[in-house]
Amino acid sequence: MSAEHVKLLIIGSGPAGYTAAIYAARANLHPVLYQGLQPGGQLTITTEVENYPGYPEGVQGPEMMQDFEKQARRMGADIRFGIVTAVDLSQRPFRVRVDEEKEILAEALIIATGASAKWLGLEAEQRLNGMGVSACAVCDGFFFRGKEVAIVGGGDTACEEALYLSKLCTKVHMLVRRDQMRASQIMQDRVKHTPNIQIYWNTQAIDILGEHKVEAVKVKNTRTGEESIIPVSAFFVAIGHQPNSQLFAGQLEMDETGYIRTRPGSTHTSVEGVFACGDVQDKIYRQAVTAAGSGCMAALDAERFLSAQEHAQRKQASSAVG
Ligand code: NDP
Repeated sequence: MSAEHVKLLIIGSGPAGYTAAIYAARANLHPVLYQGLQPGGQLTITTEVENYPGYPEGVQGPEMMQDFEKQARRMGADIRFGIVTAVDLSQRPFRVRVDEEKEILAEALIIATGASAKWLGLEAEQRLNGMGVSACAVCDGFFFRGKEVAIVGGGDTACEEALYLSKLCTKVHMLVRRDQMRASQIMQDRVKHTPNIQIYWNTQAIDILGEHKVEAVKVKNTRTGEESIIPVSAFFVAIGHQPNSQLFAGQLEMDETGYIRTRPGSTHTSVEGVFACGDVQDKIYRQAVTAAGSGCMAALDAERFLSAQEHAQRKQASSAVG
């Protein structure tokens, strides 16, 4: 298998990965970035993005990610299509296998593999995605201001998003599959005391109705079996995210849900020379702009790490000569 030696390898092509590539290229680190399964990441499956600073008229998610990519290429980043299939972080240079056919040896590694929203698995969820079905209230709630919407989930994310939506929408129908929520007590209390949030306990969404836009949600009470229809203009799914960190299991410290742990205030992981940024290490904020910010941090951390390594090597070489 052919091996290529690089200074800095970046895995992932959302706002975090591309921002890391822009900064690293400008620092002359000659970064190589592998885009992964979904070039551009989660933003390529959204429609309009209105909360990313610098786009006063808003921008389509896929277009924005093309802009990120173009900017990274213009700075000299080597952006490649390919899927990382295995990594060995036990020693440096790190060994990274791409598409089962190529091996990269990397002096430093930035992980920006993101997270994926969990879905219920309804056929209509995919058919109406971007047409009223969304996994991000902060991204898409604004398009449904003054309307009635539904949200599924009973965790902190669902509560936070329900509260966010309650400020924009006339009514929020919150569907919770059990007779209790998983969310922290304080978040539950806030939701319960918000007059325009109606909680449906023991309730599963079984279908989303509408041809080209969401018109209603069909629900079933899991205790009684009774089915009913709630007219809504949007359907938000907030049942959790899955960080794309499986490749690194057993090699990097992670929390109990698989998010990569980083040292607070930095992007350093439990392995020296490996940095993580964006949604794969952030279950709280998960915004394009925060991911981009942490991508910048990862490039700066990697740059400092590499230059400290080079400095140490030079010192060692000169003392060996002396
Ligand atoms: P959680 O896993 O905590 O909650 C998921 C929720 O979705 C649960 O109520 C679960 O129900 C429900 N659910 C899962 N699958 C389905 C399904 N198929 N149908 C219907 N409902 C379903 O995910 P979150 O994203 O809410 O939170 C993830 C982590 O991030 C948590 O640790 C949370 O505390 C943290 N967080 C913290 C925030 C903060 O501090 N500000 C903000 C947001 C998240 P059930 O309970 O029945 O399994």
